[in-house]
Amino acid sequence: VNATKDEEASAKKAAATANAGAPTIFDKIIAKEIPSIIVYEDERVLAFRDINPQAPVHVLVIPKFRDGLTELGKAEARQRDILGELLYAAKIVAEKEGILDGFRVVINSGATACQSVYHLHLHVLGGRQMKWPPG
Ligand code: IMP
Repeated sequence: VNATKDEEASAKKAAATANAGAPTIFDKIIAKEIPSIIVYEDERVLAFRDINPQAPVHVLVIPKFRDGLTELGKAEARQRDILGELLYAAKIVAEKEGILDGFRVVINSGATACQSVYHLHLHVLGGRQMKWPPG
């Protein structure tokens, strides 16, 4: 009985905080209100092509339920599962795009790192020789 109550409370909290805060362009992409080229999708993750690609392959991987995850620097311990799912989805994207031999996954967290959309996202980049260090 307690477990059920805990689950209910947790579900209510999740619903209340799902995509709370200032909406971003990614909410419209998730809702399919604006078009995107989807590369991979499951219940909790969406991957679509970046509108301003920085490499022949440039795909963004995002959680469908932002749940306060505006940026990686705000992640909480309870969000470890979705963080793992996003990283694994990046691998699936690399596989689908034929760049498993070499690709880069980038997360810009915060203004100093040039984050521009405050809905956590992984950039999956590949299809060309990468340079190091990044700018
Ligand atoms: P950030 O700078 O790490 O926050 O990355 C945001 C990314 O979202 C940039 O690479 C943008 O090109 C990309 N972006 C912004 N708006 C759209 C859109 O409507 N569709 C696809 N990608 C977008």
